[in-house]
Amino acid sequence: MEIRICKTEHPRPKPEDPRKLGFGTVFTDHMFTMDYDGEKGWHDAQIVPLTDLTIHPGAAVFHYGAEVFEGLKAYRTDEGSVQLFRPADNMRRMRDSAERIQLPDFDADFLLEALLKLVEMDQDWVPTLPGASLYIRPVEFCTDIDLGLHSISRAKMMIILSPVGSYLSGGLKPVNILIEDTDVRAVRGGTGYAKCGGNYAAANRAAAKAERRGFDQVLWLDGVHQKYIEEVGGMNVMFKMAGKIVTPALTGSVLPGITRRSCIQLLKDKGYEVEERLISVDEVMAALESGEMEEAWGCGTAAVISPIGSLAYRDKQHTVNNREIGPCAQDLYDTLTGIQWGRRPDPYGWVVKVPRKA
Ligand SMILES: *Cc1c(COP(=O)(O)O)cnc(C)c1O
Repeated sequence: MEIRICKTEHPRPKPEDPRKLGFGTVFTDHMFTMDYDGEKGWHDAQIVPLTDLTIHPGAAVFHYGAEVFEGLKAYRTDEGSVQLFRPADNMRRMRDSAERIQLPDFDADFLLEALLKLVEMDQDWVPTLPGASLYIRPVEFCTDIDLGLHSISRAKMMIILSPVGSYLSGGLKPVNILIEDTDVRAVRGGTGYAKCGGNYAAANRAAAKAERRGFDQVLWLDGVHQKYIEEVGGMNVMFKMAGKIVTPALTGSVLPGITRRSCIQLLKDKGYEVEERLISVDEVMAALESGEMEEAWGCGTAAVISPIGSLAYRDKQHTVNNREIGPCAQDLYDTLTGIQWGRRPDPYGWVVKVPRKA
C-alpha cells in the first residue's frame, strides 16, 4: 500500500524548555492514519498534519472499549542521528493484542514502515536533552457505528508522536509500592497479556487508593488466587533474591514487556541466574523479612528501570536495599540506556536507525 503524504504548511514551534516536557502532552506536526472496513480492508494510509478526529458518538470504541495500543521511543544519539529500540517487537505484540480484542489484523512490516517514515519526517522533534526522547504511540480502535454487540468490521489505526521529558531529572529515584489485595488488573483467560486500554481502566481505582495513601504505584497480584505477583503499575517487575533474579512467568495475565525480555537477556549474558516462575506474595514478604531480598525494580519503556524503595502489604511495610538503587538495577539501566542512546555497542541487533531527513 502507498502512504499518501501531506506535509504541514504550519510547522509548530518546538517546546521552548525541553526540561519541562512532561509525558505525552506535547505532540509533533504529523500523524499516521489508516482505515479498515470489510470490503476494502486496510486503506487510505496517510501521513498528514496532526489534527482532531471526527468520530461518530455511536462508534463502538466509546462504548465497549475495543482499543489496543503500543508504546516505544525514538532516541537521539550523541552524533545527532535518531534510532529506535526493537520496534518490530512492538508491531508483533500489537498484532497479538488486536487478535485478543478481535480488532482487524494488519501487516506488521507495513506498519513499521509507516512508523519509520513518520519519525523520519518529524525527527527534528526528537529532543537532544540527555534522557529525553520521542514517545511513539500506535493505536488501533473500532469505528463501527453500532451499539449492538457485533463483531468488528471497521477500525482505525493511528500513530502519534510526543516528545517526552527525562526520567533522569530526579535521578533513578526508588518508588514506594503498595501491594494491592482487593482489586485485580487481569485474570486468567482475560486481556492481561494484551496492551489494551481496558486493562488501564481496570487499574484506576487501585492506583487512586495507592496515591491517596502516599504510594507511587500498585503491585498487582494474580486475579485467581490473589497470591502471585504479576506487575507493578504499567511495568514488569523483577526481584534479586539470594543472588538470583526472579520475575513472574508470562502466564497470560502478565504483559510480555520488551524491556523485560531485554533485561532477561542482558542479565543472563552478565552471568546471572534468571528464573521466570510464579512468585507468591508470601515468598516476597519472607525474603524482605529475612534480608534475602537484595533489590527490586520495575521495567518498561517509559522509565526503563524504576527501582523499588519499599513494599507494603496489608499492615506490613519493608524497605528494599535501604531505599537506594542497587548495583544490579543500576547496571541494567546503564546498559539498556547505553544501547538505546547509541553510547554502547549493540551486540544483539536491537537498534534500528531512522534515515536522516532527505
Ligand atoms: C507496556 C507495558 C509494560 C512494559 O512493556 P515494554 O514493552 O517493556 O514497554 C508492562 N506492563 C504493562 C501493563 C504495559 O502496558
